Amino acid sequence: MAELARLFEKNRAWASAQVAADPLYFSRLAQGQAPKYLWIGCSDSRVPANQILDLAPGDVFVHRNVANLVVHTDMSCLSVIQFAVEVLKIEHIIVCGHYSCGGVHAACGSKQYGLIDNWLRNIKDIYRMYKAELDSIEDQHGRADRLCELNVIEQVKNVCHTTIVQNAWASGRPLSVHGVVYSLEDGLLRDLAVRVNTPGALEDIYRTDSYRSTHIPSTALANGSSHAG
Ligand code: ZN
Repeated sequence: MAELARLFEKNRAWASAQVAADPLYFSRLAQGQAPKYLWIGCSDSRVPANQILDLAPGDVFVHRNVANLVVHTDMSCLSVIQFAVEVLKIEHIIVCGHYSCGGVHAACGSKQYGLIDNWLRNIKDIYRMYKAELDSIEDQHGRADRLCELNVIEQVKNVCHTTIVQNAWASGRPLSVHGVVYSLEDGLLRDLAVRVNTPGALEDIYRTDSYRSTHIPSTALANGSSHAG
């Protein structure tokens, strides 16, 4: 376990350095968190949210999975969004993809990698939606990188489609969802200009009335009425 021992050693050195620079560093962080941003990014080890944004612990709430997907049935991701929006009162959700994403590139091909193929199928669904544009890009790598961008755009929509985000908007809370893509080549983020901060930007089929206005009171249910009272 020499490798883990090395990690513990590095951890002790890091913690000591923090305290040396700021004796109250950890006692202050231990009191609670008030991050301004929720970051939904890829698990890729080269795309760590805090380092890329040059933010300290406590500044950004983070959810990462392979290829930065927001899947409607993924309770982990949905729970993160719900906690971030409703409890932490975060006002900015950033979906960050990255060029040369292994998950997105794999989704462009037909090779099997195991269980993860079922996860990556969500990206194949996006390929199908933009097939004409993507098929017109001759360079294989360029095509996959364009899919990295389109994937971010679709995940931004998926975030906005959640009842969590739509209820926040319905209650008048300021909440913006942003799409960005990171380049491993130069360490820079690029804004995909897909900022969404109102339900007006959503397609009709995805819009929901706020829970409060559609909730059926128990008396209405008892009377067999389907109308909200
Ligand atoms: Zn990736």
